[in-house]
Amino acid sequence: TAQLVEKSEKLALVGQLAAGIAHEIRNPLTSIRGFLQLSHRQGEHRDDYFEIMITELDRINLIVSELLGVSKPVDVVYKKQAVTTMLEDVVALIQSQALMDNVQIHVNMEPDMPLLYCEENQLKQVFLNVLKNGIEAMPDGGTIQVEMKRIKGFIQIQVKDEGSGISAEHMPKLGEPFYTTKEKGTGLGLMTCMKIIDSHCGELNISSEKEKGTTVEIKLPVA
Ligand code: ADP
Ligand code: MG
Repeated sequence: TAQLVEKSEKLALVGQLAAGIAHEIRNPLTSIRGFLQLSHRQGEHRDDYFEIMITELDRINLIVSELLGVSKPVDVVYKKQAVTTMLEDVVALIQSQALMDNVQIHVNMEPDMPLLYCEENQLKQVFLNVLKNGIEAMPDGGTIQVEMKRIKGFIQIQVKDEGSGISAEHMPKLGEPFYTTKEKGTGLGLMTCMKIIDSHCGELNISSEKEKGTTVEIKLPVA
């Protein structure tokens, strides 16, 4: 029965997610439809309508690509590999965006880290989402400390920013689909991260203090 309960909870979550997706995609679609109709009626080319429609299309595109990370991609390959390299790759990838936003990323990794049985693309996506959130939390710049070390049977990764922080009342909302406080956010990043870490039998914990910063801690079991 425990399994049944878990299954029905999962189904409820899928329903909730589907309703959210429908809503989030219908809004920009309605707007695009409206502006197309307006353009047609007015029979003139309007740059401002065009701009809005492109922005709305980009939004749909962003939502869909983030959701692709949630639904199982076809090329999921679990193998024993170095998480250190993945983290380094992602930091290199996001470095230019960080520098533009005046954010320094400091990486500190213990030597001789064990290999993990894991999915490279998925873990990279987790690191990317968490680092992006850190950067976005510091509009005036700052430092992100990334640390990787070995703790008992786990590899522990901490990403610590000195950004806006999250108030206690908002903490339970984290990871809920479409929960975002950003104008251009999708609210899908943390949900994706939690799902991926969960499928790696790991743990993801967030601690935060308003105006002080946020720490995301990920623990992945060593094979
Ligand atoms: P998005 O980044 O698109 O808003 P996420 O799921 O990545 O969606 O994050 C959801 C919300 O959690 C963010 O909008 C923000 O309010 C909060 N959040 C996540 N990470 C941080 C962080 N490092 N610092 C402050 N707030 C954060
Ligand atoms: Mg995000």
